[in-house]
Amino acid sequence: RQQVFRLTTGSSALDNLLGGGIESSAITEAFGEFRSGKTQIALTLCITAQMPKTSGGGMGKVAYIDTEGTFRPERIAQIASRFNLNPEAVLENILYARAYTVEHQFQLLTLIAAKMTEEPFALLVVDSIMALFRVDYSGRGELSERQQVLGKMLSRIMKISEQYNIVVYITNQVMADPGGGVSFVPDPKKPIGGHVLAHASTTRLYLRKGRGEQRICKIFDSPCLPEGEATFQIGPGGVEE
Ligand code: ATP
Ligand code: MG
Repeated sequence: RQQVFRLTTGSSALDNLLGGGIESSAITEAFGEFRSGKTQIALTLCITAQMPKTSGGGMGKVAYIDTEGTFRPERIAQIASRFNLNPEAVLENILYARAYTVEHQFQLLTLIAAKMTEEPFALLVVDSIMALFRVDYSGRGELSERQQVLGKMLSRIMKISEQYNIVVYITNQVMADPGGGVSFVPDPKKPIGGHVLAHASTTRLYLRKGRGEQRICKIFDSPCLPEGEATFQIGPGGVEE
């Protein structure tokens, strides 16, 4: 088994909170309300994943599953410049895929896993993990089937993470799901996905907005990290101090 590594987020405060960065061979889930920075962290990790390990990087390629269409190549280029990396080279190392259904999301994972046998990868992003499940299993009485399929997907993701020793970063919305998918009550402190997701995620991070461009990250659930908070900024260069 390869050595577990920690990937820098671009903020030393956030890295410290995480015990040095986001760990490989594990699933890290970020949840929080809209604009809390979930996608900006994902985009920043796309760059740091490609940096040398001596700079907190992962020295590998990136696989990015986008279910919401919020991946922005121009943001990648902007963040790459901050780290003095060539934007085109960075973009070429990102295997990007837009998923439209849960089934499609499964197919993409298979495709990505096949790619990982050929080339070294450091990061897999799924932004967001639950969005398509909520669409495809929205009916009354479909919740238990949804959770079963979700569990299958997460165990496949975990297997990929461990097999290739990569960082997995997934995002999640916050809505209380009363079951049955009938009505969704907004609850800024409750990630969706229930126990299945809670158990599959190694580390869960709760993001919220602070003043201006400030964001606050709290360790919500981790097997080895103490509960705590870190403040970081989102700027032109992505996740910053
Ligand atoms: P959602 O739930 O809607 O997907 P999210 O948590 O993914 O939200 P992000 O898209 O990561 O939220 O964060 C959006 C915020 O990032 C913007 O509101 C803005 O404050 C900040 N941001 C985005 N681009 C830039 C930029 N180029 N320069 C500075 N800040 C930016
Ligand atoms: Mg987002």
